[in-house]
Amino acid sequence: MLSRYDVAVVGMGIVGLAHALAAARAGLKVVVIDREPAARGASIRNFGFVTVTGQARGEMWGLARRARDVWAEIAPAAGIAVEQSGLTVLAHRPEAQAVLEAFMTTEMAEGCALMSPQAVADRMDVTGLAPFRTALSSTHELRVEPRLALPALATWLRDRWGVAFMGATTVLNCETGRLSTSRGEVTAEAIFICSGDDLNGLFPEVLARHQVQRCKLQMLRLADPGRRLPTPIMADLSLARYEGYAALPEAQILLGRLREERGGLLDQGVHLIAVQSADGSLVVGDSHEYDASPDPFQRRDVDELILQALRESMPGYDTPAIERWIGFYAWSPLHPWFTEEVLPGVHMTVVTCGAGMSTGFAIGERVVAAANVSLKGAA
Ligand SMILES: Cc1cc2nc3c(=O)[nH]c(=O)nc-3n(C[C@H](O)[C@H](O)[C@H](O)COP(=O)(O)OP(=O)(O)OC[C@H]3O[C@@H](n4cnc5c(N)ncnc54)[C@H](O)[C@@H]3O)c2cc1C
Repeated sequence: MLSRYDVAVVGMGIVGLAHALAAARAGLKVVVIDREPAARGASIRNFGFVTVTGQARGEMWGLARRARDVWAEIAPAAGIAVEQSGLTVLAHRPEAQAVLEAFMTTEMAEGCALMSPQAVADRMDVTGLAPFRTALSSTHELRVEPRLALPALATWLRDRWGVAFMGATTVLNCETGRLSTSRGEVTAEAIFICSGDDLNGLFPEVLARHQVQRCKLQMLRLADPGRRLPTPIMADLSLARYEGYAALPEAQILLGRLREERGGLLDQGVHLIAVQSADGSLVVGDSHEYDASPDPFQRRDVDELILQALRESMPGYDTPAIERWIGFYAWSPLHPWFTEEVLPGVHMTVVTCGAGMSTGFAIGERVVAAANVSLKGAA
């Protein structure tokens, strides 16, 4: 069987769907191919947290702003609920407060404000939170439920944009203009490979050159605490981890204190993100372990460290775990993402920093637009 398209996208994670959207909006006939019948990778295992504030200064921050705008635009049309908006970062330690104050002097402070505990209390129930010195309030973010959002996005791409999907189909080989799959041949003028953390499948030599490894993360869903969080919550540990804060000189002082006090959490890459779903349950994480091939086992001691971080910032939200899972994403020490034309008309794009939900739509737009020369032949 031979199927012909203008554009073939490998991978129905957020990065692949972002490329599919950009190509479909350009009027092209698009097929998305994935070895799974529906998204099962990083794109449904994450927080669904589209984060602007805290992204690395410069390109990533700009990409996140654009991607956030795309999410906000398409979510109503695609039937995707925005479950929370904005972000609150609690500063418990004076060193964390200093990081936030420094952040507020940068251009990234646009749309953000520092708030006293009283000002926060005027906006939300703070009785479940540990005492804090100040909080950063950001207006940019939005949060979707990824396990619902990704299928809804795929359905919308199919129904609204005519994108074809070939699920349960593994791409075995890729040449210019042609894919060999486990269900036959597909031809396309342009091919976008968005295979995420699959390091040993398509173009492993390209991934090796970009020093791509995998990052393993542990996540928990906690029972409804009976309180409502209008925004996702982060705290001190995140300020030493998210580049937009961590690259500020003040973050080194915070990191030094955290090393003394919470070295065990830092060793496991633990910091706190807590988001809330429509049913009141909380998604809480996460940890970070880097390896070419991390093991698939969920460690109880690491879960306990995540819960320790939760208790220190949000003791009133410490409810029983109702789900636990592991996620993996592609990671590189070289750069937060890359795109490369690996063969004429074949483009491989990988987000290598754990921010694909926050930047994927902007990256897809950029990569598809840059491939314009190839796409002209298909039009
Ligand atoms: C626990 C966790 C929390 C995270 N939190 C956030 C967050 O809050 N905010 C944020 O912005 N990002 C977050 N991320 C990162 C984000 O989820 C990823 O950057 C993003 O999902 C990567 O998308 P992707 O499409 O590249 O990969 P994936 O979602 O993994 O999709 C890749 C797809 O390619 C398919 N595939 C690969 N090879 C082949 C082949 N040969 N043939 C057919 N199909 C193939 C796979 O089956 C898979 O469906 C988190 C990640 C994890 C794991």
